[in-house]
Amino acid sequence: MTTREKVMRIRKRVMIHLGATEKTTKSSIYYRQLWPQDDGFTLQRVNGDLFLVGGNPRGTLIGVYRLLEMLGVVFLAPNFDYYDRKGGAEFIPHKQTIQLDGKNLGVHRPAFPLRPKDVGEGGSHKLESMLALVDWMPKAGHNVFRCPSKATDPHFTSWDKWRATLIPELRKRGLLLQVGQHGFQNYLGTRRYYRNHPEWFGLIGNRRVTAEEAVFCTTNQEALKVFISNMMDYLSAHPELDIFDLWPPDNVPWCACPNCRAVGSESERYARLLALARRAMQQSAPKTRLGASAYMQYTDLPEETIIPSDVLLDFCPILREYEHRINDVVSSLNRTQYWKKLMRWLEHWKGEIQIYEYFTKYRFRSYPIVMPHLIAEELALYKTSNVSGISSYSEPDSWLAYEISHRMISRCSWDGIVRVEEELMRWATARVGSTQAKKLVEVIETLEGSLRRLYSAKYGFHTVCLGGKVTNKKQVVKCLQDLSRAHHLLGEIVTNLEGGSKEWVTQSIRSLEFTMADIGVQLSWDNKGEKLKRALKKYHRALQPSIDLDGVLHTCIEYSRDDLMSHYDAVPLRSHW
Ligand SMILES: [Zn+2]
Repeated sequence: MTTREKVMRIRKRVMIHLGATEKTTKSSIYYRQLWPQDDGFTLQRVNGDLFLVGGNPRGTLIGVYRLLEMLGVVFLAPNFDYYDRKGGAEFIPHKQTIQLDGKNLGVHRPAFPLRPKDVGEGGSHKLESMLALVDWMPKAGHNVFRCPSKATDPHFTSWDKWRATLIPELRKRGLLLQVGQHGFQNYLGTRRYYRNHPEWFGLIGNRRVTAEEAVFCTTNQEALKVFISNMMDYLSAHPELDIFDLWPPDNVPWCACPNCRAVGSESERYARLLALARRAMQQSAPKTRLGASAYMQYTDLPEETIIPSDVLLDFCPILREYEHRINDVVSSLNRTQYWKKLMRWLEHWKGEIQIYEYFTKYRFRSYPIVMPHLIAEELALYKTSNVSGISSYSEPDSWLAYEISHRMISRCSWDGIVRVEEELMRWATARVGSTQAKKLVEVIETLEGSLRRLYSAKYGFHTVCLGGKVTNKKQVVKCLQDLSRAHHLLGEIVTNLEGGSKEWVTQSIRSLEFTMADIGVQLSWDNKGEKLKRALKKYHRALQPSIDLDGVLHTCIEYSRDDLMSHYDAVPLRSHW
């Protein structure tokens, strides 16, 4: 076959048949699912017509969007307010003829069965942004929408707030729904039970503390009974859940009473609770799958109890460093705390594991800490390690800063192995046009090369912008030089642009300016004199436009203008992952 023949021209009269129909059945065109929720698709040409058939309706829908990408469309971001106002959430090329490369015909199977997006703490989400995210998800190949059930912190998002509007939108697209996360306290609340049953709650020191301060006493049979009963009430009131995440409260100790300690590690205690919850769910909510997490002090495989293999586990490498790959021998933190433990889970437990990743971490404070190369390397690694999916936060107000990271997560979640340079060029061309694309790729590579490294305990920047003490000044000064170069390149790019792309680059410049100004403050921190004063002034000046524009999220909580502007004056902003 010649190259010319390989290129198929879709002429005006070519029919595109979508989904399983009588005709596809007759012609034996179908997609063979390899697992129950497999949403791959097949793309075939028969008698000049094009057939696109998914393993399920969601597969067909994702297939249509993948076909559009094959034809040159690039889904850059959800159509959040910010993108809507300034333009540029989608790139649609103008072409005289549409050509589909013949190599695209055949079976398309996702690399990871689960491709979730998590609205996380949701500090900058509104109903409109949730709808934009849901609409975008199948465009980028995602299939699971994740949301906390009921957060204790009023700033955080709660499923009940959105469910009436979101359920039909999720169903329309066939998206799976995963709700819950940190929430033991929702099923055994302090206000309702503490006064009459303090012994149900966690013993810390010599005091029974609240459900928010510690995990309740999981060896108290009465407490367990009430906990499971309330959890089942929640599930019967929420039949829409495909997956229910039952996680302990975020980052608290576990009950230290003699009975609880006698059971063993936190992982073991959690495993026993999960086994109980799963048994209850099998009877009364058999369609909902139970979700668990391996997080903080319970990342180990439990010593005795085998968690039922239909439970979905999120493995959360929360304290990892991003300078090195998760399995890199150079990083004992990554390797010992996370990689080796993950390997033990994968080796000894039969259930599905997805990684709860922090590639778009709240603590990054919308600083352009992007990492397309690391994401591509790690997702390829996870693919070969039999991990089922990678989850990531999806905040509207930090999307602009992490657009390329989001894009890379989506691409690798579908394709598994991606040529990073090619993908970067494709994204950059859609973002700023072909003549500027190379420069934008250079900017991204410079940012990844310097900031990813800097955000590491080794250099004292583990708490970027939260008053971290600079311990390696030389490295930080070198980083600032790299950032100046990126800043210069963005300045060159922006002069040749117009419209939405110009706005996008302008905002990226601002974001880089306050990152640099913040690093400047930290470098001058020991010098309490004029130098620090100047650095602080510069920082506040650089911060101002981002507050006005709404395009930046400073942690998982939206701070008031006064809070932000007083940063460094008094107490640092409340720290949060
Ligand atoms: Zn206890």
